[in-house]
Amino acid sequence: MAKVSEIFGSNVFNDTVMKARLPRETYKKLQSSIANGERLDTDVATVIANAMKDWAIEKGATHYTHWFQPMTGITAEKHDSFISPTGDGKVIMEFSGKELIQGEPDASSFPSGGLRATFEARGYTAWDPTSYAFIKDGVLCIPTAFCSYGGEALDKKTPLLRSMEAISNQAIRVLRLFGNTTAKSVKTTVGPEQEYFLIDKEVYDQRPDLIYTGRTLFGAKPPKGQELEDHYFGTIKSRVAAFMKELDEELWKLGIYAKTEHNEVAPAQHEIAPIFTTTNIATDHNQLTMELLQKIAKRHGMVCLLHEKPFAGVNGSGKHNNWSLSTDTGANLLEPGATPYENAQFLLFLCAVIKAVDEYQDMLRISVAGAGNDHRLGANEAPPAVVSIFLGDELEGILEAIEKDESYEGAGKTLMKIGVHTIPRFSRDTTDRNRTSPFAFTGNKFEFRMVGSSASISGCNFVLNTAVAEELKQFADTLETAENFEDALHDLIKKTIVEHKRIIFNGNGYDDSWIAEAESRGLLNLKSTPDCLPYYLAEKNIKLFTSHKVLTKEEMVSRCEIKAEGYSKIISIEAQTMLEMAKRDILPAVSGYVSELAGTIGAKKSVSEAISCEYEEKTAAQLSALCSEAYEEVVALEEALMNAKDVTDSVELARYYHDSVFTRMNALRATVDQMETMTSSDYWPYPSYGELLFSVR
Ligand code: ADP
Ligand code: MG
Repeated sequence: MAKVSEIFGSNVFNDTVMKARLPRETYKKLQSSIANGERLDTDVATVIANAMKDWAIEKGATHYTHWFQPMTGITAEKHDSFISPTGDGKVIMEFSGKELIQGEPDASSFPSGGLRATFEARGYTAWDPTSYAFIKDGVLCIPTAFCSYGGEALDKKTPLLRSMEAISNQAIRVLRLFGNTTAKSVKTTVGPEQEYFLIDKEVYDQRPDLIYTGRTLFGAKPPKGQELEDHYFGTIKSRVAAFMKELDEELWKLGIYAKTEHNEVAPAQHEIAPIFTTTNIATDHNQLTMELLQKIAKRHGMVCLLHEKPFAGVNGSGKHNNWSLSTDTGANLLEPGATPYENAQFLLFLCAVIKAVDEYQDMLRISVAGAGNDHRLGANEAPPAVVSIFLGDELEGILEAIEKDESYEGAGKTLMKIGVHTIPRFSRDTTDRNRTSPFAFTGNKFEFRMVGSSASISGCNFVLNTAVAEELKQFADTLETAENFEDALHDLIKKTIVEHKRIIFNGNGYDDSWIAEAESRGLLNLKSTPDCLPYYLAEKNIKLFTSHKVLTKEEMVSRCEIKAEGYSKIISIEAQTMLEMAKRDILPAVSGYVSELAGTIGAKKSVSEAISCEYEEKTAAQLSALCSEAYEEVVALEEALMNAKDVTDSVELARYYHDSVFTRMNALRATVDQMETMTSSDYWPYPSYGELLFSVR
């Protein structure tokens, strides 16, 4: 293998390449357009496009594409070759500035949540120069935002970019109050830890449920699951190691800082974590990582499952979204400082996050809601559906001392006066390791752990950015007009703690007693996607996103619609898959096995009436009874699916799918799983959980 330093970023049109290949003036114009978000002249764009094309062709590329992130949650691309006819039967390779800046894919086949109905089907992609172009499979990919003819965002990138601007504007206002005159912008940074399962392609191919829905809809528990805890951080099997090696190399070529790879808790479960970067790029990189995980697994005869809950009974997969804020000069604003002034600033940013998470817990919960993630959140698995913040004992002790005007032990028994006293240094090691908290402070960043493994991280980050922007705005409004800054600051922090401490919880998030306590604190417990949906368009949420120009009301309505529709569609596909599996494979197989048992009984009895047929008789009787039960459940499920057409409102329809379809799916599954444990494996039509989970050896 080539040296990592040589391959890293080799397929990226990054700063080094631009510096080397662009005329100085062009390079400077591009940099200033990136820094200030200004539009580039077509002339400048043409020079850049040309340099990009030459570089891409040298790397073997023949096509280019505007690479975008529609509301499907995955990425989209439409390849165009660089060729342009010259009139003499030959071609030259061309790529214009206009083609770089703007594209016009047909938007009509992407989810628009009703936005399409009022506007033309045309959609536009617009170059996002803050994320570098790259080459993937011989195609020059240009990261772009995607919007409708009327300018409405139809993608995941647009609101994210808007939210980054919103939080930067407000954070800078706050920094100026603390005398910072040098920072020009504030960026949110993210490092997403990605969990996934790897199973053998051969067993995967035999499971229609995995093929159609990404998760097993049936499957009895295997004798061994994750109870021995022998997989977590265990030795990586050589086949998986080979996969990870190739994955790393491919990710590095794309400039993705793949850093940590290890086995996770469940058998066949693994994790990959990159080094953090700005949210926009981290989001693009995470999408690419998910794509490469799947592609490279196939090359190794395996399938990568990104579903949040591919297997019942063992852990599902999530994505830990490590989030922080830092200035363009490199200061992490969630890092406790060494001086009283720095500490005061840290505490104010901390309070902004606490207030944001408390006031917009519904939006944060909604941002991670989906049919897949419902199997984790609120279903006895980490983390719970209740949003709360873990701060650690020391930091919580400090906040308590401020709130109550008491002395804090660690501070040498002094009264904590913000801006005057240094908060005691707390060791980083004690700040984390509460793995049950959905939103944990981990020393210099927050880790949002509710995100589903298959989701784009754009959703949770634009909500988080905007909510924190709003709190910073309110803080800046108060402090800018204060007569005495230090007093006002102290009062503001104290007030925020008093009003929002209900969201802070350091205990065990899995405990039933916490759920009861959370409810008594007035925290929301939105267990499923349909539970979440009615909160989406709450007035305060519309106000939040519209006032910071992150989403218009119409865009929010469309996104709510898309979420509701997506949920219903997934449950519908799952239900239909179950019906097909039950009717065409499982029931016939069990019935066949019962018939064989009956034949055996007959044959045995013909030898002698006295021969015991206890196993055959009891099994045949039980399986027959279960078959009838399953059949009734099939009929009930079919009926429930049919009746869905009577529900027209999309939010109500999602509710209907949850209450009437999903519950029947669970009933059918329970019966079928019981049959699986009693049916000869020769007859059972699908690989078992044991075969799936331990398929990669
Ligand atoms: P762990 O959570 O396993 O203890 P780390 O805390 O080292 O591991 O990091 C987890 C993830 O958090 C990594 O992706 C890392 O790059 C990211 N991270 C570290 N610092 C920041 C930061 N300031 N902003 C965003 N992400 C960060
Ligand atoms: Mg972590």
